[in-house]
Amino acid sequence: MLNSLADLLPSIASREAADSDSYPAASVADLYAAQIPSAPLRSELGGEGASCRQATEAIELMATASPSLALLTSMPLGLAGCLAFDVEGPDAEWTRTWHEQVEAIAADYRAAKIYAACNSEKGAGGSLAATKTIATRTGDGAFAISGEKILASSGENASVFFSTAKVTPEELPGAGVVEFFFVDAHAPGVNILNDWNGFGMRSTESHSVRYEGAIASSILGFPDYIARVQPLQYFFCLFAAIPLGCARTMLEALGKPAPQSPAVRMRLAEAQMRYEAMRAYLLETADAFRPAAGPAYAARVLRMKTYVTQEATKLCAELFALSGGRHYSRNSAVARAFADAFAGTALRPPLALGLETLTEQFELGE
Ligand SMILES: Cc1cc2nc3c(=O)[nH]c(=O)nc-3n(C[C@H](O)[C@H](O)[C@H](O)COP(=O)(O)OP(=O)(O)OC[C@H]3O[C@@H](n4cnc5c(N)ncnc54)[C@H](O)[C@@H]3O)c2cc1C
Repeated sequence: MLNSLADLLPSIASREAADSDSYPAASVADLYAAQIPSAPLRSELGGEGASCRQATEAIELMATASPSLALLTSMPLGLAGCLAFDVEGPDAEWTRTWHEQVEAIAADYRAAKIYAACNSEKGAGGSLAATKTIATRTGDGAFAISGEKILASSGENASVFFSTAKVTPEELPGAGVVEFFFVDAHAPGVNILNDWNGFGMRSTESHSVRYEGAIASSILGFPDYIARVQPLQYFFCLFAAIPLGCARTMLEALGKPAPQSPAVRMRLAEAQMRYEAMRAYLLETADAFRPAAGPAYAARVLRMKTYVTQEATKLCAELFALSGGRHYSRNSAVARAFADAFAGTALRPPLALGLETLTEQFELGE
């Protein structure tokens, strides 16, 4: 995955430099042709068994060329990461449907169908428990989804959304706080608005989506999948890699060739140490990813995601301050990386929610 991505990087970067506002359709198509979003899957399903650490490295590398593309890719790549685990359902029937689901979604990836995340809601602050979207059984046993989502990256370009919704245990025995439902992005009852005007990440088309009784084909996995398998930590590692890639872009733009000024060289040497420390924290955490890894690992990922995104954006801000007038242009790669970096602290779990949770749960381990 990393080698194929390295080959694609120059064309991704030149498209990003030429137009950072429009959805990067050609780069997305290149990634699917190189089977990068499916890399975590087994080889017979079109993947190469890439680990969470390798996926995280790929997202960071991609973010150095196009942070928006990295954000768009982290959704299907994270989903593929979840599909790669051989987990048991609550019974044999659910385990069988899970295996069928993995094969069907892998076939969709091979056909370049884009799976996008459509979970966030206004006022929920990134909290799953605060989800207002609901799923109710229809007469024929399917689920109808109703609710308002925000910031669904890929927008109209998505083929399928995976969307959190609440469902009662009467309608889905064993249901968790929320389930992920798969919804055809162009089905009746799915209204994708055109309201994205991001500060950074301009080309992600992160629009609002209104569900009005949209029919969901299935849930991801089996009831209470999110609590039983703990897949979200995979995504959080990928999200942290995005502002880190922005910091790397800025560091390289300012540090190559090494500047004449000793004071600036000193600041850049400091920045390099901070970048390397954040990267090591992120990759060590991603390396330890396992399904159902338990609360201690979830807490570690929360600390890492909070720390890396917060410190990477601070570093980007400091490097931008150091960068001088030559980069003070809306078209400069340094200015774009600075703006894009700040999506990292907004991505789930957003910084404020992360800090609240850390404060509530603070306890030093053994
Ligand atoms: C560029 C970009 C792309 C994104 N792409 C996607 C995507 O593809 N799919 C997707 O689903 N999401 C996406 N998101 C959304 C993101 O992952 C977060 O879920 C969302 O930004 C968090 O909500 P908020 O900061 O808007 O929270 P707000 O609702 O504005 O809340 C702000 C803060 O208030 C507090 N708060 C408010 N309500 C609650 C509550 N009920 N419980 C606890 N604390 C609360 C929290 O501290 C919270 O951080 C994207 C965001 C950005 C910036």
